[in-house]
Amino acid sequence: MSANLVTDLGNGISCIDTLLHEPGIAACYLIEQDGVAGFIDTGTSKSLPILMDALQRRKLTPEQVAYVMPTHVHLDHAGGVGEVMAACPNATLLIHPRGARHMIDPAKLEQGSLAVYGEEKFAQLFGRLLPVPEERVQSVEDGFELDFNGRCLTFFHTEGHARHHYCIHDRISHGLFTGDTFGASYPRLNQGRNRFIFPPTTPIQFDPEAWLLTVDRLLALKPERIFVTHFGVHEEPEKLGLQLKQQIKDYAETADDLANMPERARAIENSLTLQSVNFLLDQQCGLDPDEIAAYLRMDMALNAQGLEHWLTQRQ
Ligand SMILES: [Zn+2]
Repeated sequence: MSANLVTDLGNGISCIDTLLHEPGIAACYLIEQDGVAGFIDTGTSKSLPILMDALQRRKLTPEQVAYVMPTHVHLDHAGGVGEVMAACPNATLLIHPRGARHMIDPAKLEQGSLAVYGEEKFAQLFGRLLPVPEERVQSVEDGFELDFNGRCLTFFHTEGHARHHYCIHDRISHGLFTGDTFGASYPRLNQGRNRFIFPPTTPIQFDPEAWLLTVDRLLALKPERIFVTHFGVHEEPEKLGLQLKQQIKDYAETADDLANMPERARAIENSLTLQSVNFLLDQQCGLDPDEIAAYLRMDMALNAQGLEHWLTQRQ
């Protein structure tokens, strides 16, 4: 396994590239405190060998993994939970109460994702979903504090991207593990003057009002860094948070403006892509418009699908 898939971020935290599509797209995190380990997100069922390799690099065994903590049940974050739980016999799964039943019986989750991705893409990206035995699943309430071998991890329910999403605050790193709640920001697109961040409005629970409140609530914790799934660690959360909030508003406005267009999902996708390309060109990101559009194609298609669903629901 190539060494550059695992990056040591200090404070017992490693960033692991779970190789969704290609490197630099989806991460998960290994956190260790004096011999006790946990995974925050897991990638897909195809990511398991990379996670096991990351353990080995830190001289940890699967038996030392005490917790598996998917931020939410979307499959790029939690598709591999069943496999990881099977490989780590002592682990407890900590999950948002709304996500628990989907981990115990993934059939509905699989159906939902098939509807979003289609059969071919689903098989290629996610493989299979293994159920987790109910007795190993623990739901965590908003504000729950986990004593992680003396290290305090606090869980916050965070609506906006998904209603089954939590974020984890870590007092040691002064960091927040935010899944998709604090947006997506790819290193490949961050070579210019300012970073590019966007809200993944993946179907089917986009809620702009809730999301704006959530971002404020997370910023009120005064994190010094955020660990996002897509992708890696980011400093200056305050600045990124402002950008993200503006983008959430812009996305909702774009959807509203185009609500009466024929083929509005396509119109929304084109508009989001164009806005992203223009922003990135302004930042002199080093890529040409076609490269940017190609890099963001999958995300913008999913984002448009989510906004389309949001519009339909409100009508
Ligand atoms: Zn998600």
